[in-house]
Amino acid sequence: LSAWSAVQMGPADPILGVTEAFKADKDPRKINLGVGAYRDGNGKPYILTSVKKAEEIVDASGPDKEYLPITGLADFTKNAAILAYGADSTPLSQGSIAVTQSISGTGALRIGGAFLARHYPNAKIIYLPTPSWGNHTPIFRDSGLEVRGYRYFNKETVGLDFEGLKADLRAAPEQSIVLLHACAHNPTGIDPTHEQWKEISDIVAEKKLFPFFDMAYQGFATGSIPNDAFALRHFVAQGHQVALAQSFAKNMGLYGERVGAFSLTTSGPEEKARVDSQLKIVIRPMYSNPPLHGARIANTILSNEALYSEWEAEVKTMAERIISMREKLYNMLTHDLKTPGEWGHIKSQIGMFSFTGLTPAHTQALAERAHVYMTRDGRISMAGLNGGNIEHFATSVDAAVK
Ligand code: PMP
Repeated sequence: LSAWSAVQMGPADPILGVTEAFKADKDPRKINLGVGAYRDGNGKPYILTSVKKAEEIVDASGPDKEYLPITGLADFTKNAAILAYGADSTPLSQGSIAVTQSISGTGALRIGGAFLARHYPNAKIIYLPTPSWGNHTPIFRDSGLEVRGYRYFNKETVGLDFEGLKADLRAAPEQSIVLLHACAHNPTGIDPTHEQWKEISDIVAEKKLFPFFDMAYQGFATGSIPNDAFALRHFVAQGHQVALAQSFAKNMGLYGERVGAFSLTTSGPEEKARVDSQLKIVIRPMYSNPPLHGARIANTILSNEALYSEWEAEVKTMAERIISMREKLYNMLTHDLKTPGEWGHIKSQIGMFSFTGLTPAHTQALAERAHVYMTRDGRISMAGLNGGNIEHFATSVDAAVK
């Protein structure tokens, strides 16, 4: 008898499963709007010019392949923290931010989950928005936290359920952990306004909640690095202690290089040193130390003024292409095809994704009849649309809902 004879078949990953179905489809009109990876105007993966140049600089420096320290490349983590918190951030200038390199955003969330499970002195309950990125629940559950939800999405308005969100955070036990998408909320594409963020910050203060920011899309939401960090920087300026997961997958297109950072603000250098030591103790048995190459690329961009400017412009170009696809899709559905329903949210939503309002039955029909693939909840990656396929997509949606 095999040791694994009782192992049950598990369900396919709901997001990566879409790509598998797409790959198996041989129709030339097929479109993959499942996974959140940027595609250029020709539907091709895009390597940023700033990344190519940074890679050349790294290569030319004759780099070795030695191990990094447990918390990664120190210059990279310093620059990653500046990018997120801002060069003028008070905790940064006080030397009170504990930061470690991570295996992209997922790894940052997992380090955070494990650190909180071990050291957070209050109830180990984390509140996630409903809905949230599908991997948040398993990450925090497997880290040993109790996962609960707060209202976020209003089906009727296809907008933010701000009253529900406030009521749920007010009803949470004091000192609970609350996960906040810093910008470009995945999957809904709906972000609080600056005024709403200020109210959320006040409730978090009132209820002594612990804010954990997931910032996987800095620059991708509005095209501006500081703009997209508004929520994080506001919370820090209000005196909140925060946790932060950063990913460079999307904004540098470094998906497979797995470049990220996890940080915590502390009360000062002495506490930071203690927190740093415990971060190492969490990380060492997980994977010992992080990968080298991507961190060198990201650090070269972040530390070189000319490359940084070029990168900023490229982030803006990516964000703007996505915004132009929103406009185009909205116009096709509303004006050209007169598709039944209200599609204004396609234009107003932010970031990589749009929560279309299409039902599981629609998404199934689109896959089977039109070779158009998306997650069952009707989320589409706007980056998968381009001048060559948007008409097929719009007419297929029109046919599916009519
Ligand atoms: N958080 C959110 C909200 C995401 O959408 C993603 C990627 N889909 C991640 C974190 C992590 O991605 P990665 O591990 O590739 O950086």
